[in-house]
Amino acid sequence: MDSSEHAVVVGAGPAGLGASLGLVRHGIHVTMVEQHDLPGTPRRGETIRTDPHMEEILGRGFFDKIALRRVNRRRYYSHSGLCHVDRTISNPNIIFSWPDLIGHLAEIARREGVVIRTGMRALRLVTRAGSTVGIEAAHGSAQESFPAGTVFLCGGCRGAESLGMAQDRSGMDMAVHKRLVSGYDGPDDRLEYHFHLAPAGLVVGAMFPRGQGEAELILMNTSGGSTGVISFDEFCGHHPSFARLMEGVQTSYDLETCIPMGGMRFPFSPGPGLVLAGDALGHVQGRGGSGIRTSFLIGHTAGSLSARAMRAGGWTKENRRAFEKELRRHPHVRSLRLHNLVYAGLRSRIFRRIRSPEHMDSVWNLLSVALR
Ligand SMILES: Cc1cc2nc3c(=O)[nH]c(=O)nc-3n(C[C@H](O)[C@H](O)[C@H](O)COP(=O)(O)OP(=O)(O)OC[C@H]3O[C@@H](n4cnc5c(N)ncnc54)[C@H](O)[C@@H]3O)c2cc1C
Repeated sequence: MDSSEHAVVVGAGPAGLGASLGLVRHGIHVTMVEQHDLPGTPRRGETIRTDPHMEEILGRGFFDKIALRRVNRRRYYSHSGLCHVDRTISNPNIIFSWPDLIGHLAEIARREGVVIRTGMRALRLVTRAGSTVGIEAAHGSAQESFPAGTVFLCGGCRGAESLGMAQDRSGMDMAVHKRLVSGYDGPDDRLEYHFHLAPAGLVVGAMFPRGQGEAELILMNTSGGSTGVISFDEFCGHHPSFARLMEGVQTSYDLETCIPMGGMRFPFSPGPGLVLAGDALGHVQGRGGSGIRTSFLIGHTAGSLSARAMRAGGWTKENRRAFEKELRRHPHVRSLRLHNLVYAGLRSRIFRRIRSPEHMDSVWNLLSVALR
């Protein structure tokens, strides 16, 4: 098969699966490599809100298929725990299971012809005369080459590093500690967010009930820095109401990683034949951590536009320029940039001015206007 008609996608997360569908639906042959034996093994976000465009791509009823439950209430607590504000949202959070979501997306991709090679770790990019022309990957001790007209790097926040590519991610990645617990008997009709003023900046402790005694707990260092989020024990020591929610729970899954909520990086295509999408470029909303939808949708758009470039003579200078320009102007990309600028920028400016827990309580009425 002519490799100019073939794309390789590294990483079976939302960005890679979105890109694969965009490519395959425009007539490009797609092979996807995923380092884990089962797509969806390292769990990431497990809440999403319905989105008409995502449903249009994935078929009506997709969100109903994955929903464990819907929650339309949120509660925000000040650092001291003395103040809180309740919000009701019209487009509820859907709580789902990550392996289930990725399994459904992978099934759709396979049905449409995407070949998914699991247990296959991309090791390095293969380049010729300055263009990316494929990857080398390993399955156990066996190595294999995958020639391609385009390589999509959708390996998440550490994907580029795993292929030996240097990427400056300072100010972009924020450390996250996630736990799935059972035996949870706190309120299960709302999501909770507990603010904590650490010396380095704001930490958020979130509690997302999943029903049947299960909950997802997240501690996130929103001040930047891909390491150094405080421990659950330390957080509980400062926040009795959070500690009460954790009483008697058993941890069934634990993960320390990062989430790139500190803004997007460009370009989408750093060289001919190579395209990045998803956490690899920070396609996450700075408010609410809505990275599944944005990574999937931007990945899908990048896949569709790449297919067009591949069919129109490959990654010539003109095609690359047109691809980059069109992608930057695309409504999904523009709305993510605007969202990050307006909401996340405004909110972090407000939080940066708060000097102490008492100060937070004194400005809580004003602050809570920005909490939706
Ligand atoms: C703890 C946590 C909670 C979050 N909560 C939410 C939430 O509630 N809602 C929301 O919308 N977003 C949430 N997010 C963000 C969201 O999960 C991410 O933005 C989204 O998963 C990014 O998709 P991706 O495809 O770019 O990367 P990933 O989902 O990280 O997928 C990357 C894939 O690439 C594979 N890979 C990496 N390197 C290689 C390699 N060399 N070879 C082969 N395979 C490779 C990995 O195994 C992985 O399967 C959360 C993130 C975290 C970490």
